[in-house]
Amino acid sequence: MTGSLPRGIMREAVINRGAIEHNVRQLRAAAKTTEFIAVVKADGYGHGAVTAARGAIAGGATRIGVAEIPEALRLRDAGIDAPIIAWLHAPDTAFGPAIAQGIELGVSSLDQLLRIAEHAQTQPALVHIKVETGLGRNGVAPADRAAVFAEAARLAAAGRIVIEGIFSHLSGTSMADDRDQVAEFERALAEADDAGLQPRLRHLAATAAAIALPEARFDAVRAGIGIYGLSPFEDRSSAQLGLRPAMTLRARVAAVRRVGPGHGASYGYEYRSERETTFALVPLGYADGVPRQASGVGPVRIGGRRFTVAGRVAMDQFIVDVGDTPVRVGDQAVLFGDPTTGAPSASDWAEAAGTINYEIVTRIGARVTRTVNS
Ligand SMILES: *Cc1c(COP(=O)(O)O)cnc(C)c1O
Repeated sequence: MTGSLPRGIMREAVINRGAIEHNVRQLRAAAKTTEFIAVVKADGYGHGAVTAARGAIAGGATRIGVAEIPEALRLRDAGIDAPIIAWLHAPDTAFGPAIAQGIELGVSSLDQLLRIAEHAQTQPALVHIKVETGLGRNGVAPADRAAVFAEAARLAAAGRIVIEGIFSHLSGTSMADDRDQVAEFERALAEADDAGLQPRLRHLAATAAAIALPEARFDAVRAGIGIYGLSPFEDRSSAQLGLRPAMTLRARVAAVRRVGPGHGASYGYEYRSERETTFALVPLGYADGVPRQASGVGPVRIGGRRFTVAGRVAMDQFIVDVGDTPVRVGDQAVLFGDPTTGAPSASDWAEAAGTINYEIVTRIGARVTRTVNS
């Protein structure tokens, strides 16, 4: 990460686009699949969807994955012309605009397939049939596969749809559970083949399986968390995976106050100073995605030293007891970033808050300025 916060900016998430590019290159080389789908849903896990998509494409991603059609259309509007797939639809989604923009659609039921075909009047809809293999979310149930595959074959023969892919999603519960899902996926692929379907891409693995379960890789992996440089594993760090965290969350200390012993810090006085000390005020709160559950435990680096949030995280700010460290108003406080720079990691915050690193970066609020470094 370079330099200090820009003038007039109080809180900032610095996004290292080059890190995303590096991570995609790294994951692609590890997975060795024909194609690589970079997942940039939920505003690129908080990093900015367009930034993430551009970085991923530069690093060799061949497709972009998002949850829903509005996310896909925003990427098209921003000039991303790579294939984009969206797989989560409302019961009354109008598929016309997505088809017109060449957005590929995940299809989880016969009803969805028929509604998509209805909207594909002037050009064929590009579809990826999603099969349910155990996770219990969306996807065609095993009992419905025959009907959906037969209809898909008919629609493909009639030129209404093009079957780009067949896919599913793993639970990551254990190697054994994931292998059961791989086996179910293979049964679905065999049935699709019997029905005459010829999907270009079979895809199952997200980041964790892309790294740790080779038999789940098929023709493409759909990687999200890994492209942002974060590890999906509790027992393996980003650095151990050769990944570089792409987001640094930081702020300028907004106030410092010298206080005597026994001085309360923040609502509820859950923290009190033990002796004369300095309280530094960091202007990031739960409105900005700093989890309130990390009150009293979240790590912060100020002036090259690591401290802990003192007392409760409030909506806009929290306090750090910096002792006698000479901290001044305007000094930089780093909540998380690339731990090889000495910063705490998003995973440290996840541990402090009892959640996962995915949630830490994805919930960074709209009030936090995103600055992109390339
Ligand atoms: C979010 C998502 C992914 C990406 O998962 P990561 O664990 O972040 O790599 C892949 N596929 C589907 C269907 C998803 O919803």
